[in-house]
Amino acid sequence: MYSNTALHVVHTPEDVDLDAAEQAAGQFLRALGVLEDGESMRDTPRRMAKAYADLFTPRPFDLTTFPNDEGYDELVLARSIPLRSVCEHHLLPFTGIAHVGYLPGERILGLSKLARITEHFARRPQVQERLTKQIADWLSEQLQPKGVGVVIEAEHTCMTLRGVQAVGSTTVTSTLLGTLRNDARSRQEFFSLTGVNR
Ligand SMILES: [Zn+2]
Repeated sequence: MYSNTALHVVHTPEDVDLDAAEQAAGQFLRALGVLEDGESMRDTPRRMAKAYADLFTPRPFDLTTFPNDEGYDELVLARSIPLRSVCEHHLLPFTGIAHVGYLPGERILGLSKLARITEHFARRPQVQERLTKQIADWLSEQLQPKGVGVVIEAEHTCMTLRGVQAVGSTTVTSTLLGTLRNDARSRQEFFSLTGVNR
C-alpha cells in the first residue's frame, strides 16, 4: 500500500501591480537617460515589468514523498541543475548550476523535484549563500534524510558585467547537513560526484 504524502508548494509574491511596475520602470529608464522616444523602446517599460514579475514567480508544484521501501541508503544526487536567479543587491541575474543530493532516510522523493525545489527558491531576489542553505534546509525538513548536500556554482552578472571581474568567473557555495557534513568519506564522495574540488 502506498502512503504518499503530497504537499502543494506555492510561493507567490505579494500582489504584483504590473501597471505600477511599468510606470516605475519608465521613470527609472528616463532618470538614467536611456529611454528613447519612438517605436523600438515604446514597450520596454512594460516588458521590463513583466520580465521581473516572471523572474520572481516560481511555478507551483506538488512535492510527493514516498516511503523508502527498498531501504535505499546511497546518495541520491541531481547534478548540474540549471539555475537562474537575481541578486538582491543589484537586481541583476546570476546563473549557473546546482548539485542537489541527499542520503535517504525513511522517505524519498521524485528526482525531478530536486530541480523544482531549486527553482522554487531561485525565483526571488536572492544571495547565493542563502539560496544554497534554503534548499538544503527545506529538504532536510521535508524528508528527514540522513544527510543533505547542495552545491551552487554561479556567475554573477553584477560582478562580471561591471568592474574588473572577468566574464566566466564563478562563485561556489555549499551547504552540507547530517552525515554528509559529519562523515569525511560521505563528504568526499559527494564532492567527487559533483565534480567540485573541495
Ligand atoms: Zn549583486
